[in-house]
Amino acid sequence: MKTIAIAIDGPAGAGKSSLAKAVSSKLGYIYIDTGALYRAIGLAFSRKGIDTDLNCNIEEMLKEIKVDIKFIDDTQHVFLNGEDVSDEIRTPTASMMASAVSAKPAVRAFLLDMQRDFAKKYNCIMDGRDIGTVVLPDAKVKIFLTASAEERAMRRFRELKEKGSDATFEEVLADMEKRDFNDSNRAIAPLKPAEDSVIADTTGKTVEESVVMLMEIIKKGIED
Ligand code: C5P
Repeated sequence: MKTIAIAIDGPAGAGKSSLAKAVSSKLGYIYIDTGALYRAIGLAFSRKGIDTDLNCNIEEMLKEIKVDIKFIDDTQHVFLNGEDVSDEIRTPTASMMASAVSAKPAVRAFLLDMQRDFAKKYNCIMDGRDIGTVVLPDAKVKIFLTASAEERAMRRFRELKEKGSDATFEEVLADMEKRDFNDSNRAIAPLKPAEDSVIADTTGKTVEESVVMLMEIIKKGIED
């Protein structure tokens, strides 16, 4: 059976994961959050005492890393060498480490087949930065999800606050801008809309309104 893939790319905090989750359950597709894979690799490096300068032999490090995804109660969990690290990869430090490791060609190559294999097996919505441009260039529908930097930072700030973080809004905004800059300006697989993507801006929209907007784009894209 030929599977259907929907690619959602965009900067941090645009709402990719919450919207992709909502839309995938409506469609009965599986949702794959590829950022979690880069975060798990970033965590593996931090656990070895390496910081965002990545002063190490990346290829040698990767030989000791195994990353897996499993679905538990329909929710994606990410495993690093057999350990469920789904919560640990959500800290601001893990975000910056993910952004650093993701600029390395060896890291991107390490994760590429795994992502493509999922799309071969399942109807899926996959979110990330390069899904429509590199990972799944033949995706049936490609969406570039965005929102203003202030609104994205405010969403992330609220999420972190709920988890008990004491980071200020200014710190969250600065981290987000730095990460977006890294992701958009790296030499390999930079964050940018695929030429055949639909741009969806969630600034000022509620989650429900954004879900309606995405469902319309997807229905139209699947029918075409
Ligand atoms: O999506 P999330 O914010 O969890 O991603 C964490 C980091 O992983 C991003 O800032 C980006 O550097 C990297 N990433 C990537 N390519 C993807 C998904 C994430 O480079 N497809």
